[in-house]
Amino acid sequence: MRIIVTGGAGFIGSAVVRHLVLEVGAEVLTLDKLTYAGNLANLAPVEGKPNHRFVQADICDAAAVAEVFSSFRPTRVYHLAAESHVDRSITGAADFITTNVIGTFTLLEAARHFWNGLPADEKRDFRFLHVSTDEVYGSLGAEGLFTETTPYDPSSPYSASKAASDHLAIAWGRTYGLPTVVSNCSNNYGPYHFPEKLIPLVILNALHGKPLPVYGDGSNIRDWLYVEDHAKALHLIASRGRVGETYNVGGRNERRNIDVVTTICAILDRLAPKSHPHGDLITYVTDRPGHDARYAIDATKLETELGWKAEETFETGIEKTVRWYLDNEAWWRPLRDKIYAGERLGVLKSE
Ligand code: NAD
Repeated sequence: MRIIVTGGAGFIGSAVVRHLVLEVGAEVLTLDKLTYAGNLANLAPVEGKPNHRFVQADICDAAAVAEVFSSFRPTRVYHLAAESHVDRSITGAADFITTNVIGTFTLLEAARHFWNGLPADEKRDFRFLHVSTDEVYGSLGAEGLFTETTPYDPSSPYSASKAASDHLAIAWGRTYGLPTVVSNCSNNYGPYHFPEKLIPLVILNALHGKPLPVYGDGSNIRDWLYVEDHAKALHLIASRGRVGETYNVGGRNERRNIDVVTTICAILDRLAPKSHPHGDLITYVTDRPGHDARYAIDATKLETELGWKAEETFETGIEKTVRWYLDNEAWWRPLRDKIYAGERLGVLKSE
């Protein structure tokens, strides 16, 4: 197995790379532009491993991507490179359209040209796994779950750009025969999560005695999945999923945002007690425009067809995550300093 992982220096991509290199033993090429969200420190555990190499390139750069395909000759592509932060998409959508739409198109074209030149048996076994989000389905009311047949109804520039990229991956399968599979996953959390996202932001702000910003009344619901469970699901979907299909990935862990924050505070009260409970820092802030009320994934297809099951519950995963941040200040300190030194302060209040 020779696998290109795009976005492999990011949060989820690096979990995928670590799993493939250290546990699966695959040959992996990480292709990443190293935007503000890409961080080679996420790949420190695979540094120097003979089955891993890193190429810094933009997925919108057709020549660079073609060169990676022809020199590495992948048997699979796991496509995770994206602009991924909803708040940033609201204040600056252009990068989201460029990377998520044009970049995915460029990558699909490179994959198609490379795949066309393969012998029949290698063509049949080739896989292009397009990794996406449940946010493409829009918002749920109090009842119901997203299934693979839920109509697309994205609310933010981020989710609209991901929806467009999903359609491209599916179309490249139907029109050109490229063996594509799509996955749509709920919110991830875990180690190496960039400190602008809700869970690491709350952990680190709490440690620093800063306000813990919660949108609206905190009642928005997200379905949380530990990142390593997602990484394993992706490899399973690419290995055993049916070509042309979509698989929803989720841990059946719905939580209101405010409950996520209070859970983290309770863990910190135990592991890193201060004179006041950490929950005193919770601050409600003006809601995000177009804020979806509830996301929740029905992962029955993945569970029954491919036998996947999340290993972590929210309780075990969040405890591991808080402990990881407490133990890995050397990883988050430079990122957090950079964020606070810049003008990005205004976006530090979201998932
Ligand atoms: P991330 O922002 O942490 O990482 C994205 C990575 O892509 C970074 O390393 C960045 O440098 C790289 N990248 C960005 N633009 C690029 C370009 N033009 N060329 C090459 N590399 C580029 O994102 P993440 O949270 O790890 O998400 C990874 C994927 O999973 C995304 O496609 C996202 O839509 C999807 N997803 C995320 C979640 C979540 O909760 N974070 C849930 C479901 C799906």
